[in-house]
Amino acid sequence: MKFGTAGVPNSSKDRSTLGGIRTIKELGLDAMEVQFVRGVKMKREMAEKVRDLAKELGVELSVHAPYYINLNAEEGRKVEDSIRRLIETAKIGGIFAKNIVFHPGYYLKSSKEGAFRRIRDNLRRALEEIERLGLKVELRPETTGKPTQFGEVEETLRLCQELGLKPCIDFSHIHARMRGAMNSYEEFSSLLEMIERVLGKDAIRDLHVHVSGIEYGLKGEKRHLNLKESDFRFEDLLRALKDFKAKGIVIVESPNLEEDAIMLKRIWQKI
Ligand SMILES: [Zn+2]
Repeated sequence: MKFGTAGVPNSSKDRSTLGGIRTIKELGLDAMEVQFVRGVKMKREMAEKVRDLAKELGVELSVHAPYYINLNAEEGRKVEDSIRRLIETAKIGGIFAKNIVFHPGYYLKSSKEGAFRRIRDNLRRALEEIERLGLKVELRPETTGKPTQFGEVEETLRLCQELGLKPCIDFSHIHARMRGAMNSYEEFSSLLEMIERVLGKDAIRDLHVHVSGIEYGLKGEKRHLNLKESDFRFEDLLRALKDFKAKGIVIVESPNLEEDAIMLKRIWQKI
């Protein structure tokens, strides 16, 4: 597995994406997830510079799409805006990254099945447009941390299965959403088994993982914590990933970003 940070590492004096890529390399890390979470503001010219630098330094980049996406919004305009944001992310992010992570939406007043169908059908429209534009990206729906958000494990895998996608597995979100479960070698293994069963071995050989410590309550995730300050059993997770011969990228979202990413990478190399 490759290890990296969600956004520019804290220790990077240069806070730009280019600065972040250089810092990732200096730290001996492998990857960075570029944050378009507050909108796609990067210009094409900059995206090309980002692509060239990442290639030169051997840093693998992914993108996190804007938070303001709800493919199950009640108003048609909000759905259209969500589709447009996904396409914008693919257009600019696709210049330097393959994997694009996004949160599909909220249930609002819909039944789970109703939300699933609307999200699937609206996502299909976005995928068709991305295909028509010839963009070589993989849109990855993420397992989310709050029960009001679409993104349980089962529905995320089903969405991937029906549309031919791969997921972003945020283990900490699942742990928070399940209020403390999904925190042992056995549970991590059974989840990896489920991914293999639903999406095939290829999905395990091309995983995109998010991880951090996490504080949670009745409404799911509250805030991210550093791994050692949380109850999350990250060594068990790494061991399960190793035993399943998982390949792909682990993006760390702890407040201390690179510290936890470096710690995980060291453990990974030892086990
Ligand atoms: Zn996310």
